[in-house]
Amino acid sequence: MFLRQAGQAVATVIVAGPAAASAPSPLDDAMQYDDQKKVGFAIVGLGKFATQQMMPAFKDCKHARIAALVSGSPDKAKKLARQYGVEAKNIYNYENFDTIKDNPEVDVVYIVLPVGLHAEYTIRATKAGKHVLTEKPMATSPEDCQKMIDACQKAGKKLMVAYRAQYEPFNLDAIARIRKGELGKLLQITADHGRSVDPTGDKADSWRVQKKLAGGGSLMDIGIYSLNATRYLTGEEPVEVTAIESTDKNDPRFQEVEDRIHFTLRFPSGVLATCTSSYSIQEVKRYRVFGDKAWLDLDPATDYKEHNLKIGDKNGERKPNVDEGNQFAAELDHMAECVLNNTTPKTPGEEGLRDIRLIHAIYDTRTGKRVKV
Ligand code: NAD
Repeated sequence: MFLRQAGQAVATVIVAGPAAASAPSPLDDAMQYDDQKKVGFAIVGLGKFATQQMMPAFKDCKHARIAALVSGSPDKAKKLARQYGVEAKNIYNYENFDTIKDNPEVDVVYIVLPVGLHAEYTIRATKAGKHVLTEKPMATSPEDCQKMIDACQKAGKKLMVAYRAQYEPFNLDAIARIRKGELGKLLQITADHGRSVDPTGDKADSWRVQKKLAGGGSLMDIGIYSLNATRYLTGEEPVEVTAIESTDKNDPRFQEVEDRIHFTLRFPSGVLATCTSSYSIQEVKRYRVFGDKAWLDLDPATDYKEHNLKIGDKNGERKPNVDEGNQFAAELDHMAECVLNNTTPKTPGEEGLRDIRLIHAIYDTRTGKRVKV
């Protein structure tokens, strides 16, 4: 690995706090963004999200670079390798993936596969001696999440879940304002995430309606943004959950997974969060946080770009300026810096496990039964 010595020379760089991902680091000067000194990532799964969002973001990374590609399509892998300057010897497929252990250019395995494969590839990556960044949701079950955590712990490797909203400037700004008390006493949150899933028109949606590969429906895929936001906005863990589901079983898309599911969370401070998740409405990715002094609205809140923040109170509304930045690069750099500085990611496996436990609690109570969590 190219970086470890440079990393060991730096004593205290990363604090696992919201601003850490984009804060200037002493490494910035020391390394001058020399590409060969960056942490090498192997991208596993060259699908829609990897190719359209994450791979292009590496150009804005200070500490992360694409070192290898893992794909079942040799032609696609070769083409992308040429585009991103990845050597042909660093292209792997799912069968020979384990030989990645012999490649010192790869430090981190970034798993961008269907959810049902995250656990398998995390465990295989740790056996190959690599750190793991896995896409959200972490896995289909709490048991698989725990296996992933245990495998990384046993191998002495980092595990981070790619909760990009927790590295995104508007969300970080919202968290900071709430912590400073700008809204007064926090009382309630509403959060909505929905889109129309299209398994016949969009290949990336075909596995999303298969229970084994997706783990569930809209809640696993996008409702998780509502859920995760309530936790990072409050800084608390919910103690009570209620839920209700509505799924049209005559719709061919929803033979195995849920469509709409609404859930309510009660937090220890008394905050109530009302969240919706849908696979049949048009794009919505928003939340609103209410305190006794003011409210904060982010709409969209968890999109890829063009976030829109408003704050209001009895005197009217205002729109604070926030620099959009590159949330994907910030997230990748955070993982790279954790490797360099031997620090724990801000969104470790335990963070992913908490959401999956809550999602299963929501599923357990979707008939309307109240469940203590
Ligand atoms: P996708 O279907 O476009 O990509 C998945 C890739 O995995 C494809 O290249 C596919 O060929 C490959 N694959 C390997 N084995 C497979 C199998 N057995 N079945 C199906 N595909 C297989 O999907 P995507 O939208 O890119 O999602 C990939 C991952 O990224 C998922 O975990 C998803 O939840 C996550 N994601 C995250 C965000 C985000 O904003 N953080 C956004 C979209 C997707």
